[in-house]
Amino acid sequence: MSAAEYVPTGADIATLREAASRCRGCELWEPATQVVFGAGNPRAPLMLVGEQPGDVEDQRGLPFVGPAGQLLQRALAEAAIATEDVYVTNAVKHFRFTLKGKRRIHATPLVSHIKACGPWLDAELSEVDPELVVLLGATAAKALLGNDFRITRDRGRLIEADVAGATRRLLATAHPSAVLRATDGPDRAKAYAELVTDLRTAASLAAG
Ligand code: SF4
Repeated sequence: MSAAEYVPTGADIATLREAASRCRGCELWEPATQVVFGAGNPRAPLMLVGEQPGDVEDQRGLPFVGPAGQLLQRALAEAAIATEDVYVTNAVKHFRFTLKGKRRIHATPLVSHIKACGPWLDAELSEVDPELVVLLGATAAKALLGNDFRITRDRGRLIEADVAGATRRLLATAHPSAVLRATDGPDRAKAYAELVTDLRTAASLAAG
């Protein structure tokens, strides 16, 4: 399984997005409504990478527009990061889910899906070429830094790694959906504050 044959070489973001709508690099395209490609400023200094689109994103065709996305927008604003300074995308571009009655329940993508979809993420990284890549959650971190990476151990600090044909600067933090899953008030407030702190660090690294 690989998206490689569907990815046009040296294409800009608009062309990549259009081409991704025809991707059959793995089986996830079939039950999903549509591909959800990256969005935002293709010249942004910060590129945020999440896991995969959710139910709302799948229906609207845009990344980070559901509940986790709204929390992320709030955290970005609190970290004084302007919308025009950000490009957001996901490691996997189609929604993976299981059906429970009529409800579509999020299912974590497999390593094989992350690998299959990797050529799209590599192409976005090459084209946007951000000052800093923010990895939101374990799936994004594993996609770019490998299976040994641990968010709990390595979040919030600058990492340099060879990714998508260049040495890149990255920082990992929690996925905003993990903040939403923190059930009680104090836990959720702490998880949110840690996300904002990591985003502030990211902004300062991107600027410096
Ligand atoms: S998830 Fe990625 S590799 Fe799989 S079909 Fe969608 S765009 Fe292609």
